[in-house]
Amino acid sequence: MKKGWTLLFLPLLLLSCGQKEVKSDTEFDAFKESFIEDMWKQYPGWASSAGYHKYDDQLSVPDEAGRKKELAFAEKNLEKLEEFDPKSLSANNKTDYYMIENQLKSVQWRINEEKSYQWDPSGYNVSGLFAEMLINDYEALEKRLQNLGKRLQKVPAYYEAAQKNIQNPTKEHTDLAIMQSTGGLSVFETDLKAALEKSKLSQAEKDKIAADAAKAVAAIQKYVAWLKTIDHSQARSFRLGKSLYAKKFEFDIQSGYSYNEIYQKALDRKKFLHGKMNELADQLWPKYFGMAEKPADQLVKIKQVIDKISLVHAEPTGFQAAIEKQIPELVQFVKDKDLLYMDPKKPLVVRKEPDYMAGVAGASISAPGPYDKKGNTYYNVGSLSGWGAEEAESYLREYNQYTLQILNIHEAIPGHYAQLVYSNQSPSMIKSLLGNGAMVEGWAVYTELMMLENGYGNNLPELWLMYYKWNLRTVCNTILDISVHTKNMSEKEGLNLLINEAFQQEAEAKGKWKRVTLTSVQLCSYFTGFTEIYDFREELKKKEGSAFNLKKFHEKFLGYGSAPVKYIRELMLAEKD
Ligand code: ZN
Ligand code: ZN
Repeated sequence: MKKGWTLLFLPLLLLSCGQKEVKSDTEFDAFKESFIEDMWKQYPGWASSAGYHKYDDQLSVPDEAGRKKELAFAEKNLEKLEEFDPKSLSANNKTDYYMIENQLKSVQWRINEEKSYQWDPSGYNVSGLFAEMLINDYEALEKRLQNLGKRLQKVPAYYEAAQKNIQNPTKEHTDLAIMQSTGGLSVFETDLKAALEKSKLSQAEKDKIAADAAKAVAAIQKYVAWLKTIDHSQARSFRLGKSLYAKKFEFDIQSGYSYNEIYQKALDRKKFLHGKMNELADQLWPKYFGMAEKPADQLVKIKQVIDKISLVHAEPTGFQAAIEKQIPELVQFVKDKDLLYMDPKKPLVVRKEPDYMAGVAGASISAPGPYDKKGNTYYNVGSLSGWGAEEAESYLREYNQYTLQILNIHEAIPGHYAQLVYSNQSPSMIKSLLGNGAMVEGWAVYTELMMLENGYGNNLPELWLMYYKWNLRTVCNTILDISVHTKNMSEKEGLNLLINEAFQQEAEAKGKWKRVTLTSVQLCSYFTGFTEIYDFREELKKKEGSAFNLKKFHEKFLGYGSAPVKYIRELMLAEKD
C-alpha cells in the first residue's frame, strides 16, 4: 500500500520540479554553438586568428561603449548558462560549461577590477592582426585585402580610444608598447604595399586602401609620440599586487590550489631538487674531475658538474638528425613499458622547420587550428645553419645530449603531441578555443618525470641531473613570478635565484626578469599543472592500491581533453565511487 503511494506520488513531484526544466546535452550543444558565434561577433580579431573569417572586415574599438558591449555579452551568456545544471551534463559538456563560465567571469573581472586597459599600453596593437591577413593564404588575396581595407578604417578610432583609456601606465608596459607599435609599422608600410602591388584589385581600390593605411600609420605614430611624453616619476608599479594576483591565478590557471599553496610547494620542490642534485654531483665528481678538490659550496659544485656534462652535445650539422633519431625510440619505450596507447595510424610527422619559422632552433609542435580539421600536426625541427660558432656552441650546450631527450619527451612523445592526439578524440570547440594551459603544459612536464621514473635512459645519473636542472627551471619560474608580483622581490634577488639556484646563464636570467615585469601568472602554469597531475596520480595510487594501472590512468586522464586538472580529477574520482 505504502509502496503504491510513493509510486503514484513520484510523477507529481517530477512534474512540479519540471517547472524549472533541466536542459539536456542536446540543448547545451546548441547553446555552445550560439555562444561561439556570439563570441566571434564580440571579438572579430580573435575570430580571424582562430581561422573563422566571417568578421574579417571588423575591428572592435576599445572605448567605453565597447566595454559596455563586452560586459553585456558576458552577462547575457552567463544568464543562459544558468538554464543548465552542470551535474546533469555529460563529462565533456560539464567541463565545457565550467570553462565558458570561467571565461565570462574573467571578462567581467578584467574590465571591472584588473583594468589593464588603463595601465598597459602594450595591450593596444593591431599590427599582428593585419600581418596574419597578409601571410595566411586562407582565401584569395583580393578578398583578404578588401576585408583588410574595411578593418583598416577603424584603426584611427582604435588608437584614439586607447589614448583616452590610459591613465598612469607602468613604465615597463609603456616602453614595450613604444617598441612593439613602432616595430609593427612595417606591416602597413612594407608588407601591405607589396601585397597591394601583387593583387588584381582595381587601381581605385588599391588607392583607397593605401590612403587608409597611411591614416593608420599616422594614428599609430601619434599614439607612440604621445606615449613618449608620459611622465613616469609617479608611475604605477609593474607588480600586480596580492589581491589582483590571487584572482588572476584563479581565472588563468583554474587550479585546485591557491597561489600561496603553489608557492610553498615550489619552495619544497626546489629544496628537494637541490638535495638530489647534490647527491648526483658527488656521485659524478670522480668520473669528471678525478681527484680534484670539490668546492665547499654545494651549488657551486653542482654547477661545475652540469657545465662539464653539457659539453656532450650534437654537432651543429647533426642537430636535426639527433632529434629525429629519438622519436621512434621514445615511441618504442612508451609501448614496451605499457605507459600509454599510441595510435599507430597517427604517427608524428617530423619536418624541417618551414622558412617563416627559420632561426628558431630546437623543436616545436604545430597543430592545425580549430577550423582546419584536415590539417596535419607537425614536429618542426630547427637547424643551426647560419648561426655563429659561439652562438651555436652555447645553444648546443644548453640542449646537450641529455637535455635534448627531455625536450623531445616534453614536446613530442609522450608530451604535447600525445596529448593532442587524445584531445582530438573528444573534440570540443570550447576546449580548442579556451583550453587550459596549465593542464596542457602540466602534462608535458609530468611526462618528463614519468618517463625517467619508468627507467627511460637506464637511470643514467647524468640524465637525472640534467632533468633536475630542467625541472628546476619551471619551479624557479613559479617562485619568481609569485615573489615578484606579491612579495616585492628585487631584480637582484630574482637574478640570484635564477643564476645561482637554478643554474641559468646570465642572458637567460635577464630575459626571464624582463618577462616577469611584463607578464604575470603565466610563468606558474607549468609547475602548477605538473604538481596537480602528479599529486592526483599519487592520490589515486593510494586509493586503488594494487589495482592502480598507470596506462589506464594516463588514457583516462587524457580522454577528458584540455580541461583544468581539478575538474578532470573530480570526474575521475566520481566515476570510481
Ligand atoms: Zn661543444
Ligand atoms: Zn610545453
